[in-house]
Amino acid sequence: MKKQVRKRLFCKFVAKFNKCLSKAYNIRTQTSFRGAFPGLRSMPKAPRPRRLDALAEILIIMEKRFDFLVIGSGIAGMSFALKVAKKGKVALVCKTTLEEANTYFAQGGVSSVTNLKVDTFEKHIEDTMIAGDFLSDRAAVEKVVREAPSQIEELVRWGVDFDKKENGEYDLHREGGHSEFRILHHKDNTGAEIQESLIKAVKSHPSITVFENHFAIEILTQHHLGQVVTRQTPDIECYGAYILDQTTGRIDTFLSKVTLMATGGVGAVYQTTTNPIVATGDGIAMVYRAKGTVKDMEFIQFHPTALYHPGDRPSFLITEAMRGYGGILRTLDGKEFMHKYDPRLSLAPRDIVARAIDNEMKTRGDDHVYLDVTHKDPEETKKHFPNIYAKCLSLGIDITKDYIPVAPAAHYLCGGILVDLDGRSSINRLYAVGECSCTGLHGGNRLASNSLIEAVVYADAAAKHSMSILDTLNYQENIPAWNDEGVTSNEEMVLINQSVKEVGQIMSSYVGIVRSNLRLQRAWVRLDIIYEETESLFQRSVVSREICELRNMVNTGYLIMRQAMERKESRGLHYSIDYPAKKKEPVVAE
Ligand SMILES: Cc1cc2nc3c(=O)[nH]c(=O)nc-3n(C[C@H](O)[C@H](O)[C@H](O)COP(=O)(O)OP(=O)(O)OC[C@H]3O[C@@H](n4cnc5c(N)ncnc54)[C@H](O)[C@@H]3O)c2cc1C
Repeated sequence: MKKQVRKRLFCKFVAKFNKCLSKAYNIRTQTSFRGAFPGLRSMPKAPRPRRLDALAEILIIMEKRFDFLVIGSGIAGMSFALKVAKKGKVALVCKTTLEEANTYFAQGGVSSVTNLKVDTFEKHIEDTMIAGDFLSDRAAVEKVVREAPSQIEELVRWGVDFDKKENGEYDLHREGGHSEFRILHHKDNTGAEIQESLIKAVKSHPSITVFENHFAIEILTQHHLGQVVTRQTPDIECYGAYILDQTTGRIDTFLSKVTLMATGGVGAVYQTTTNPIVATGDGIAMVYRAKGTVKDMEFIQFHPTALYHPGDRPSFLITEAMRGYGGILRTLDGKEFMHKYDPRLSLAPRDIVARAIDNEMKTRGDDHVYLDVTHKDPEETKKHFPNIYAKCLSLGIDITKDYIPVAPAAHYLCGGILVDLDGRSSINRLYAVGECSCTGLHGGNRLASNSLIEAVVYADAAAKHSMSILDTLNYQENIPAWNDEGVTSNEEMVLINQSVKEVGQIMSSYVGIVRSNLRLQRAWVRLDIIYEETESLFQRSVVSREICELRNMVNTGYLIMRQAMERKESRGLHYSIDYPAKKKEPVVAE
């Protein structure tokens, strides 16, 4: 009897092993992604076949199945995961730790109309439309503004502690562009409070499995079944993603019924940024390569005064309150310059100041300007800005005696993966939420503190929609394992590092705050060279997070550049010397 059981088990194992073997070898010739970037000379190729010549290697090929695959652990990814976890099994993937995300760095707060004695939804809607230079999608604006209060309550239920006054009402702040006090906050570290509360909730949820240090490489579509997929292909579908486990170096196939892209911003594509270095635009590049629609990439918001300290990534923010306190902007020879740009001098709005600093730096060939508070009372300065004082002092700059070196830094992306009011991308079964998405809320420019709230409102919409269709979806079978045939080496990191630096320089110098046809053209030619080199490197080296990020940065840079070239006007955050005016709106006949 025992012998029979052993025999049955052995046969079962052999059958399973043979199935695994044939699946592993059932590697279809991948169609190429050529055609993804029509402006560039050649296109990225598809994933490569992995050569499997040992039983051990076959056995470690892993296919994981989850109802929901969530790529990104910021406010967007985690709030979606918490909502859908009541309906199915969730994989939450992030490329480093759960904490490292733009969300953690948010300082100001979350905008929502909560004081109905003075504030109204209409006022918040109007403020958002004005900030967006009337390029925002009004339906998206209405949705976010009207659904914000209920999502604030959801954040509170997950443990977020917004500051309150003694009478129990929220302690609301007011920020530039808002006509009322409506910013909820937790001291000056709202993002960290949100991130930590959501992490606690996610970790204690039995239906959510967290995969830290897992890097999403590509999303899976019909392309991986051997079909030709172009931008004209109707009904492209997403079946999950190839994901690199950075601890083992293995690339697993994550199959899902629904996938959420929540990979955050693109600040790290620029030389100077307030974003953490994980913000390399991966999700946007992945979706674009899979033929999804990406929009409004030209609208990059720059913070005017980040501390200039080369090598610091992210850059340390010198709050705009310091200009409000009386800080004066000066060029390196100590001369004031804001009078050339705006009668409000250093108190002019963020975009005007950023543009003025950029112009001075570019025309003079300097890497930064100065912010001067040496004329203010030293004790007052230390009292008002203890963190800035301490940070600068640690670098040998005593801000009560020395000028502070500052430069604009890439801060926020208004565009991204185009989604509808349910957070659905142009690819079926693929949703996008948070900074990597383009909902239409921000239009040409973001109203302060509108991004965190956008993420939770759209996470809710995407969760509701995806849960409503989940039972109609199945896992896609026959997706081949990731292939590595023909790769020979782990290229020297110096090649990748140097290209990353060059991308940053190109983007900051030519595709930054002020653009021109000549600058964009120059960027195009230079990025094209790096593109060719990177694709060739990618084809022959073992896949690593670094090479994939570089590839994504080049792809993202290309999208920013191309969409900047296509906008032949100055509008919102996009400013071109060659088209300084706003295009006239076409007159619509009555
Ligand atoms: C300094 C600073 C201050 C800010 N202040 C405010 C503010 O006061 N109010 C406000 O509304 N907004 C603010 N913002 C903007 C706001 O923080 C972001 O827009 C928001 O947090 C984005 O959230 P997200 O979930 O979309 O992305 P993120 O929080 O950036 O999360 C992205 C996640 O994606 C993961 N990821 C990326 N690529 C991959 C990959 N290939 N594979 C696996 N995982 C991947 C990352 O690991 C990370 O977990 C600020 C931003 C910064 C930088």
